[in-house]
Amino acid sequence: MRKSHAFILMALLPLLALVPTAAFADQLGVFVSILPQQYFVQQIGGDRVRVEVMVPPGADPHTYEPKPSQMVALAKTKIYFAVGVNFEQTWLQKFAATNPAMQIVHTDAGIAKIPMVGHSHAAANEATPAAGHSQAHSGAPSSKHDHDHGALDPHIWLSPPLVKIQAKHIRDALVQADPANAAIYQANFERFSSELDALDAELKTTFAGKEGLEFIVFHPAWGYFAQTYGLKQTPIELEGKEPKPAQLQEIITHAREHHIRVIFAQPQRSSRSAETIARAIGGKVVFADPLALDWAANLRRQAASFDEVRK
Ligand code: ZN
Repeated sequence: MRKSHAFILMALLPLLALVPTAAFADQLGVFVSILPQQYFVQQIGGDRVRVEVMVPPGADPHTYEPKPSQMVALAKTKIYFAVGVNFEQTWLQKFAATNPAMQIVHTDAGIAKIPMVGHSHAAANEATPAAGHSQAHSGAPSSKHDHDHGALDPHIWLSPPLVKIQAKHIRDALVQADPANAAIYQANFERFSSELDALDAELKTTFAGKEGLEFIVFHPAWGYFAQTYGLKQTPIELEGKEPKPAQLQEIITHAREHHIRVIFAQPQRSSRSAETIARAIGGKVVFADPLALDWAANLRRQAASFDEVRK
């Protein structure tokens, strides 16, 4: 009898390992703004953390309006990881009011932001100096894409060295909220940090000897990527709008002069003008998604597509 009991116990042991631990059942509920952040938080939090994403696939983080059900979900959230995308400027205060106990972590803290390209004429179009400020469309649905807020580039999640800074903020916040699992978060951070270093080295190799390589992109989301790897980003979109025919013609002339063959478009935006340019230069449109959840693989795919930029 004892022997069979022991046998049953032995047979059950592997199953016991699969039973969620108390910590697993009691996951830390956190929110992030965009899908790549979900990837970052999962790298560090693993299954100790339950991540919800504010901006769903296909939606635009510049103009997103959270749903009432998301506001309800925020009430059960311990941490909100902000990244500095435009909709946060309107909504973070409302999130804080919904759940005053929730910690709001600014993962862009300590990152030196660069000016947004293609927005140098923004001031000229504003009736008053304050017209483009975030408060102007507070509460009202903003129909146009709006990068005017200080004209700084928010797309900090597309450069591995900058992601490492964001990852440190994520680690620190998880450790603070759940000190019992601090060692796990630290170990996961170190592993993710090494992966970021490896990806960075790999991309540096990919772009070695291609300094100044220029690419044309509809929405200028790749500014930090370009800065990190010595590339030059030229946007089609101007102040978040489709270019006028004369501006489009300028870009076509520019692309011809610089022998550019690939135009990047983004799944979340219209690819019409990208297609017009590609047709005019006999080139092709390549879709580049700055908001993909499979972040590392996406950056590798993006880097590989640069091979076709200039032939
Ligand atoms: Zn953007």
